[in-house]
Amino acid sequence: MDRLENKAFEGVTVFMLATEEEILKAKEHIIEVSRELHEIGLLVRTWGNISARVDEKSFLITPSGIRYEDLIPEMIVQVNIDDLSYEGKYLPSSEKAVHAACYKEREDVDFIVHTHQVFASCAGALGDKKIFSYIDDEDVVIPVAQYALPGTEKLAENVVKALKKYPDSNGFIMANHGTLCFGKNSKEAIYEAEKMEIACNNFLIDVCKTDVHHGVEIGFNSHLEDGKIVYDVPDTPERVRQIHKAIYSKRPDVKYIIHNKSEAVMTVSRRANHMRPLLDDFAQLIGYSVKVPSNEHGKDGVSYHNIKKNVNAVFSLDDGAYCLGRTEDDAMAVAIVLDKGCIAQIAVMRHGEGHYLSLWECFKMNRHYRKSYSKLADSAKTNND
Ligand SMILES: [Zn+2]
Repeated sequence: MDRLENKAFEGVTVFMLATEEEILKAKEHIIEVSRELHEIGLLVRTWGNISARVDEKSFLITPSGIRYEDLIPEMIVQVNIDDLSYEGKYLPSSEKAVHAACYKEREDVDFIVHTHQVFASCAGALGDKKIFSYIDDEDVVIPVAQYALPGTEKLAENVVKALKKYPDSNGFIMANHGTLCFGKNSKEAIYEAEKMEIACNNFLIDVCKTDVHHGVEIGFNSHLEDGKIVYDVPDTPERVRQIHKAIYSKRPDVKYIIHNKSEAVMTVSRRANHMRPLLDDFAQLIGYSVKVPSNEHGKDGVSYHNIKKNVNAVFSLDDGAYCLGRTEDDAMAVAIVLDKGCIAQIAVMRHGEGHYLSLWECFKMNRHYRKSYSKLADSAKTNND
């Protein structure tokens, strides 16, 4: 009965079966925490998910494909720990099996945060079983749970294996995907996620021998208006206009182009020939084989740009990449995920090795993502959690 004395969230005690009032309080608390994590940048868009154990039988979890800014209590789904059943019209996060497995394995855990935070996700793409790092003078060791496709039983199994192997750890990296951080309450879980991000940033600074920043640096954007190309910057050079024109003509589905010239994307546009996905969200959103033009192709003309169906980033030699979308929001999601993918790529280049996702895995994810996206697109939601 020990656990039942614990407080899953401030001010609310966990009883055998939670009352309506307790459940509502817990839902509000989950929303509060998701906003906090969103504000500090550990949660972005609809990526990641949060849950809280409410009683012996169930936990509450954020829904699939809804932005954190738009969450209201009725959207938080109560899921049965044993059989993953739930009620209501909102779909629970597709990673509910991972959360349930964690609650089953760790009786002391009442709050879980799963994020796609940048540095920890990238550190988890290098193929290492543990990340050895530090914060100030303190050593930090972060276990990495083995890769499996997102939303699968296999992934939950791999997380359980890691939980059993490291029973004292409250923070894990899920290889090529994200993190799982937890504790007795939300405070402990958030602390773990923040600590992990600092430690992984330090780790990547050591691997890359430099501090690679994360973000989107806008170059020359454009969008289509009544079939005409509108450039954000009036004096967009002709060389760049040629690329925009080629993209719109070869990809009738694209309506927005965001030119990302972030530090990481620029580095890849200079130094790499090819990007294979190292992270799940890259495979889902961008595609599974992205070519980078090399010096051999020259800088002028557009014929060497690799504009392909289902590949949503078009690199330009030494000039970043064009991120494509049906909406401005889609294009921005591609720009954010591309930047993270480029940091992972740089880390792998410097580290000398990495664990790339197999073509089969990428193909499955990309297809599944496009399928669920087309179902959700009308309501402007993306299904990526
Ligand atoms: Zn995830």
